[in-house]
Amino acid sequence: MQQRVVKNSETDLVSTAKTVLPAGTFGNTTLDVVIARGKAGHVWDASGNEYIDYLIGSGPMLVGHAHPEVTAAVVEQVVNGTTFFVNNPPGIELAAAIVEAVPCAEQVRFVCTGSEADLYAMRVARAYRGRDKILKFEGGYHGMSDYGLMSLAPKRLANFPEAVPDSAGIPKSIRDEVIIAPFNDLEAVKSLVSQHKDEIAAIIVEPFQRLIGPEPGFLEGLRKITEETGIVLIFDEVVTGFRWAYSGAQAYYGVTPDLCTLGKIVGGGFPLAAIAGREDIMRHFNKAAVPEDRALVQIGTLSGNPVASVAGLKTMEILRRPGAYERIWGTGRKLMDALGRILKDAGLKAQVVGEGPMFDAVFTDGPVKDYRGYFKGDLDQARRFNTVMLSEGVLKSEGKTYISLAHTDADVAKTIAAYEKAAKALRDGTV
Ligand code: PMP
Repeated sequence: MQQRVVKNSETDLVSTAKTVLPAGTFGNTTLDVVIARGKAGHVWDASGNEYIDYLIGSGPMLVGHAHPEVTAAVVEQVVNGTTFFVNNPPGIELAAAIVEAVPCAEQVRFVCTGSEADLYAMRVARAYRGRDKILKFEGGYHGMSDYGLMSLAPKRLANFPEAVPDSAGIPKSIRDEVIIAPFNDLEAVKSLVSQHKDEIAAIIVEPFQRLIGPEPGFLEGLRKITEETGIVLIFDEVVTGFRWAYSGAQAYYGVTPDLCTLGKIVGGGFPLAAIAGREDIMRHFNKAAVPEDRALVQIGTLSGNPVASVAGLKTMEILRRPGAYERIWGTGRKLMDALGRILKDAGLKAQVVGEGPMFDAVFTDGPVKDYRGYFKGDLDQARRFNTVMLSEGVLKSEGKTYISLAHTDADVAKTIAAYEKAAKALRDGTV
């Protein structure tokens, strides 16, 4: 394995981080690397080492870092002021572009993070429906709110539908408001809905949960159950929005929810996220349109921020160009196929899970169709695999490889060579 050259200036930064940040990090990863710069599909650490970047900012940088057109749009806005609180042209244009792109979107409310978008989507569904409970899936990621943190990545596998909080500090009472179901198990959902149908306000689901795709009929089944029972169906498209297709996973799978949440790509690398959906639900954000006791209070200093909006609009324009999605899916498919073959040839108990735009190796040979299947994966092997990848100049998160439009054929070839080394190191026990 190559050794990364770490300069004193980076070592100093790491030691400052260890003093002034809890756990020495922003909380997002345990990666012991400080990224100083990004361009297209690559990033450079504070010591100047270059990496092919499959983290892409945890998903937003689908068109690549510092895309010249996005940068130009941002610079043009920055000199004209960076935030106004009131309506501004780019924010209104971005809302209109979302309404045009996303099937369920009749109206849009902006916030800054995916966590907030999910929090308000669940709240507006409760206000609309006049019911309190939320059904979510084990392993489903819906941000850091008290609700979202129920059975996100539980270490203890409880009996369904018991919710297990992933964090300290959450009131016990919230547990009783969240019903947990296994992903891809329509029968379980049907039975839970029939037991609680007058209490459930919304079902929230990632249409593609982390790395796991919906089995044929699963999303259609959720749509049917929710329609029959008047439950609001929320698709969390923070990851899949503008990634699976320009119109998101709801277009890709052909199932239109009542509400969706968007984040990451829609802000073009700036803090912006959105709740989008049916007007009769979204009108609960308008206190003039609904009775006072059914209206939400929702205010945010940076909501509809013009800098984030121009970055989002330009990113969307680039993604609308012919061939963009074919390229993203094609790059991912090449890497997935190579990784699958390499893991198999090395005799490792592992499989590649995901789709072109986002996938990873999971170190188990059992079926991975829900959180429990994924949970059987050997995380230690995954970490060791990633350690070799990093030393070979490939940066990725612990559990995902995100493809960008900016990754080149040369990046793909270099990544495949790194896969070979990582698989060999695991097989030979040298990492
Ligand atoms: N939903 C999903 C599906 C996500 O993957 C994430 C973030 N990884 C969020 C919501 C939360 O978004 P944010 O980190 O912007 O709060």
